[in-house]
Amino acid sequence: MMKKRALINIDYTVDFVATDGALTCGEPGQLLEHANVDLTKEFIKSGDFTVFAVDVHEKGDVYHPETKLFPPHNIRHTEGRELYGALNSLYEENKDQDHVYYIDKTRYSAFAGTDLELKLRERGITELHLIGVCTDICVLHTAVDAYNKGFDIVIHKNAVASFNQAGHEWALNHFEHTLGATII
Ligand code: ZN
Repeated sequence: MMKKRALINIDYTVDFVATDGALTCGEPGQLLEHANVDLTKEFIKSGDFTVFAVDVHEKGDVYHPETKLFPPHNIRHTEGRELYGALNSLYEENKDQDHVYYIDKTRYSAFAGTDLELKLRERGITELHLIGVCTDICVLHTAVDAYNKGFDIVIHKNAVASFNQAGHEWALNHFEHTLGATII
């Protein structure tokens, strides 16, 4: 039986990717634009559940744990929070389809404080394909939660990136050897 799969497209926004983004991965993030867009198109076209999981912060939120760790980023209703490059128009063209789903997330993991798990379970999805940024922060934390919840994990290594190359390499190794992910 074919496994039911979903794509989780994580934090591919202007602030995390553009050269002048507030918390940018820079060039490694920009280089995966085509891979990200192509994979997202493929999932949308095949009718697979396609999730955009996008960090959101409120301006001046003193209670958020990231406030003391990072400069302000992905502030609600700002340009920095828009999806980056060609992904933005792809999302706009397809957002009204039932299997295209956008989640505001407020922590690294796309599961933390969201209804992602309910949406996946309702649809009988067992295999999660993760793409986006940063490999060693939000992709990693989403993958760890997916592992603990019993999902099979597929990481598209040409469609994840980080500002920290050592962290990126470490996370790829961790996905494969500790979380049992398939790396393609
Ligand atoms: Zn954040």
